[in-house]
Amino acid sequence: MKKSNKFAVGVDLGGTYIKFGLVSSDGKIVSKSFLESKAETGPDAVIKQIKKGVSAIIEQSNVKINGIGIGAPGVISVKKGTVENPPNLPGWGKVHLGKIIQKEFDIDTHVENDANAAAIGEMIFGAGKKLNSFVMITLGTGVGGGIIFDRKLFRGETGAAGEIGHLSIDFNGAKCNCGSVGCIEAYSGNNYIIHDVLRDYESQKSSLVFKLIENNLDLLTPKVISQAAEQNDNYAINVINNLGTRIGYAMASVANLLDLTTIIVGGGVSGFGTRLLEAIENGMRERVLQSLKPRVKVISAKLSNDAGIQGASSLVFYKS
Ligand SMILES: [Zn+2]
Repeated sequence: MKKSNKFAVGVDLGGTYIKFGLVSSDGKIVSKSFLESKAETGPDAVIKQIKKGVSAIIEQSNVKINGIGIGAPGVISVKKGTVENPPNLPGWGKVHLGKIIQKEFDIDTHVENDANAAAIGEMIFGAGKKLNSFVMITLGTGVGGGIIFDRKLFRGETGAAGEIGHLSIDFNGAKCNCGSVGCIEAYSGNNYIIHDVLRDYESQKSSLVFKLIENNLDLLTPKVISQAAEQNDNYAINVINNLGTRIGYAMASVANLLDLTTIIVGGGVSGFGTRLLEAIENGMRERVLQSLKPRVKVISAKLSNDAGIQGASSLVFYKS
């Protein structure tokens, strides 16, 4: 490890677990841990868990900590460090999380929306290191987005920018959790993918997707679909291609609006691999304005398993 390295604590706040890590300024995880969020018992219990996890990381480390970065769901006011109505964290309303943690440890604390933190993480440590501008899309239970323009995160008026998951690609389309219809999240969120594949069970019984789980539909995960596709199962390949095409159509709108044509794809479903990336790129190229076509580029995120921790810690090294 370089002597010039600085260090940050990254906190990835999720509805089920909170992940913690000590991360160096070149993006390496020095140590990490996790605790249950205890989300169902309300914000005080969750904050207690955050303090417990951060304090353990600090105690184990023998370096100077330059800051604490927290990636949290919901709308975040970066200046005030407040977290507002985060989904999967009931009873929060508005919590001054940044102030609370900063006061506890007397260390500079930065709070950012988790999808935005993922984009900053890719810019500082990952696939966006050498890019001036890009759009990051994170595929998981939900579909998050982050817009980086000229090495700066675009936050919008209140910090809510980049909700790519709720771009509608069909005004008569599938119902989305947000209350709208045809949102890209309603086609590419993990649960929606599983739901759609289960709906095809009767007509696609012979697919390897269902053979791999011996028709025990409770065992269906995106990983199973990925495994079936790797073994050239036509149905699984179709599922991934359709998914990619739809995401690509949404990203074409993003490109047309912003004149940003490089897309970084991260999150769990990106385990669908190059097949998914190619389908997104093809879909995007099919629908984007002629003048942008040659510049369309869809690449994989570099940060993977610890992306949440690295993204959160990158907030400390990001100069906004
Ligand atoms: Zn929606």
